[in-house]
Amino acid sequence: MYPVFLTWGGEFADPAREADYQAERLAESARHARLLFGFALLMNLLFYLSDWRFFGHPHFAVSMVARSVIVAVSLAGMLAAGRIASFRKLAWLSATWAFFVIAASVVLIAPHSSPIGLLITFVMPMIYYLALSMPFRWALVCGLGGSIAPLASYMAFLPSRETWPGLILALITLNIILALVLIRSNRLQRLAWVAIQAERMANDQLARHHETLQALLQAVPAPMIIVNRKDGAILQANDAASSYFGDRLLGQARAIQATVERRHLRKLIMALKAKGRIDGFEVRLQLGGTARDVLLSATTAEIDGVEAVLVALTDITGRKEMEANLERLASTDPLTGLVNRAHFFTLAKGEIRRARRHGRPLAVIMADIDHFKRINDTYGHGEGDRALTSFANLCRTLVRAEDTVARLGGEEFGLLLPETGTAQAMALANRLRAAVEDLHLGGLPAPITISIGISQFLAGETTVEAALSRADQALYAAKRSGRNRVVHFDAAA
Ligand code: GH3
Ligand code: MG
Ligand code: MG
Repeated sequence: MYPVFLTWGGEFADPAREADYQAERLAESARHARLLFGFALLMNLLFYLSDWRFFGHPHFAVSMVARSVIVAVSLAGMLAAGRIASFRKLAWLSATWAFFVIAASVVLIAPHSSPIGLLITFVMPMIYYLALSMPFRWALVCGLGGSIAPLASYMAFLPSRETWPGLILALITLNIILALVLIRSNRLQRLAWVAIQAERMANDQLARHHETLQALLQAVPAPMIIVNRKDGAILQANDAASSYFGDRLLGQARAIQATVERRHLRKLIMALKAKGRIDGFEVRLQLGGTARDVLLSATTAEIDGVEAVLVALTDITGRKEMEANLERLASTDPLTGLVNRAHFFTLAKGEIRRARRHGRPLAVIMADIDHFKRINDTYGHGEGDRALTSFANLCRTLVRAEDTVARLGGEEFGLLLPETGTAQAMALANRLRAAVEDLHLGGLPAPITISIGISQFLAGETTVEAALSRADQALYAAKRSGRNRVVHFDAAA
């Protein structure tokens, strides 16, 4: 199918596009025109010699003038073509040159009807169709003019008219063939130009897309890294990643693998293999001696022909610290820093499970400061608080690492002692009671005393409530029997 954007002459239908096309080729067209004008100049200088044979002939002077016109316009054209600034001007220059050359050749061919005249008649249109840079219509006009005028001049002086039809038909045929050649050449050149333009545009677009993607990658505020899936080499990293990891670390081979903690790395690789992507995987990184918690998302993709993994990170170190703080606050008594009542119950569940599994004893102690109200009343609430804190610290120093000390409420404390039988629990409780009595808790002038109730967990119990209640009963018995003493539930019952 004939491309609709071309005219029948093979030029662009859109004048602006045609102008663009010609403008792009102007330098080459002008160079070619200069070459043609220069060649015409040279040839016609040589023709001066050939014309010499008519010396003395009445036509000699006229042909000299005509020849000189061709030489002059060719010289002028050669000079002008070097300075031409637009295709339109070049076309005008070419057409003007053609006009003078055609006119001069009419004069030159006229009197002889020689084979040379006929040869020139047939060669001339070729120059206008093929060798000059003009719009198609102009080339057509020049080509036809350059055929008809010399032929008419030639035929006018032929002795007979026999060859007229043949000559005319031959020249028509030549013009048609030349026009077809020009149309084909116009078309092919413009189609090639369109293809080159399209390719250029596609490349530009691709480059722009690439730039946009790069800009996007760089603009993302979270660290993003693209890693070669095969060898783990970093293919690209955005600015956020550079400032997060540091350029030195990112410059290393397998930088990501080196920072992710080993246990996490194995899981990551397995998840990526299984699903091809990872969403919000919590990972710990070791960055220059400090640990950072991050949420890592990754997906596999082919980038520039390389099997790659896109990794995006969100730093959650601050959030994790806050969570840990909140957790600690939720499970800790703010005054003494001991485990609070709720958390004591949670921890107890775990200890009970362990004790049941291994068939080991588990003891619970309840300690209550005696007449604490009086301390508050006598020395003030602040001193009371200091006494509570001192007692908490004392408990911490006396128990083992695996024991739990909790503030169950007010001036009431609970101790959970794994692997502890009655005798050992009694011994610890008495040590605690004696230490309190000796130490003048909180630096108060009068000694403080505590009463303690103890109970063992019984087989089949799964929660701390029952044992705690028994310890409380033992504590109550200790209070009743005069305070500052230790009572075991078995003895109290
Ligand atoms: P008992 O020997 O029978 O245990 O007498 P008590 O006075 O120690 O017992 P009671 O239950 O009558 O009073 C406990 C007091 O502990 C009452 C309250 O004002 C005080 N208390 C509770 N929590 C705090 C606290 O956080 N700080 C201070 N300073 N006092 C507290
Ligand atoms: Mg008390
Ligand atoms: Mg109390």
